[in-house]
Amino acid sequence: MSTPWHILGAGSLGTLWATRLARSGAPVRLILRDAARLASYQAGAGLTLVEHGVEQTYRVPGETADSSEPIHRLLVACKAYDVQSAIAQLQHRLVPNAELVLLQNGLGSQDAVAAQLPQARCIFASSTEGAFRDGDWRVVFAGHGYTWLGDAAHPTAPLWLDDLHAAGIPHEWSTNILTRLWRKLALNCAINPLTVLYQCRNGGLQDHQCEVATLCAELAELLECCGQPAAAEGLHGEVQRVIQATAANYSSMYQDVANARRTEISYLLGYACQAAARHQLVLPHLQQVQTRLVDYLAAHGLASN
Ligand code: NAP
Repeated sequence: MSTPWHILGAGSLGTLWATRLARSGAPVRLILRDAARLASYQAGAGLTLVEHGVEQTYRVPGETADSSEPIHRLLVACKAYDVQSAIAQLQHRLVPNAELVLLQNGLGSQDAVAAQLPQARCIFASSTEGAFRDGDWRVVFAGHGYTWLGDAAHPTAPLWLDDLHAAGIPHEWSTNILTRLWRKLALNCAINPLTVLYQCRNGGLQDHQCEVATLCAELAELLECCGQPAAAEGLHGEVQRVIQATAANYSSMYQDVANARRTEISYLLGYACQAAARHQLVLPHLQQVQTRLVDYLAAHGLASN
């Protein structure tokens, strides 16, 4: 039997991956937060994927971190701020050369996991797929996209990419995954915080073009300084295109705040500001947006880390 895919976190992306892998016949195990969540899951019919309005439910076996089966391959699908503690709970089950796929947005959580698990292979992912939960154990596949996977330490692609192919998960092995993650972080920093501060859809930033341009210039300077010149190329142009193409959408950070959910700010704008400080780079506008956002979150009773 082929190596099971253990999936940590049955949220939007975890469910999106679990259901597609299960549909293709790959062995999948879902690792849930605790016994109460496991009981809730087991009381239902399984995991439901809603795609193009059609629902399909898959009986994916669930377990908690206390289960005993060794883990060879782990898809980490928690939010960036939950990753380290979630992994700590099951660390004893990881075989020495276990492979982890880290789906988190932003930067910072991946390096933290790599330091936490020096013997494991950590594969970083950057995805443009979009999904949201419309109920417990249900996910709506809202935006078809692509997932880039890569390992900054070892450029060789793993053989199990065949599983993703069989599951119909569009993907590509990337030898410059850090550049992709930095670029996505920069796009996020130029758009998402401002949509929260101005309480607008992405298209609303067309009324704040100067501010967007200034942030892009500072972000490009940061990327150059961090050894990521390719991620800086044409940044402002791409930000403008994204704002136009997604004018009617609310950014993920806007939606988190609107739903009183914790944001991943520390792994996005917070990470950018820390990197600037490490390089003694003065980026006043970026820093000011960070301060305004932290204040905004605090004023709305939300964590700012
Ligand atoms: P999500 O829907 O909030 O799912 C996170 C899941 O992690 C939740 O089900 C949560 O459990 C679970 N979890 C947290 N701590 C856990 C623990 N200790 N043990 C087991 N499970 C635990 O988040 P998401 O939207 O899938 O996002 C995951 C990551 O992917 C984020 O970094 C996000 O930025 C990135 N991403 C998401 C999308 C998207 O469209 N959703 C797209 C690209 C990138 P409970 O259900 O019990 O709370």
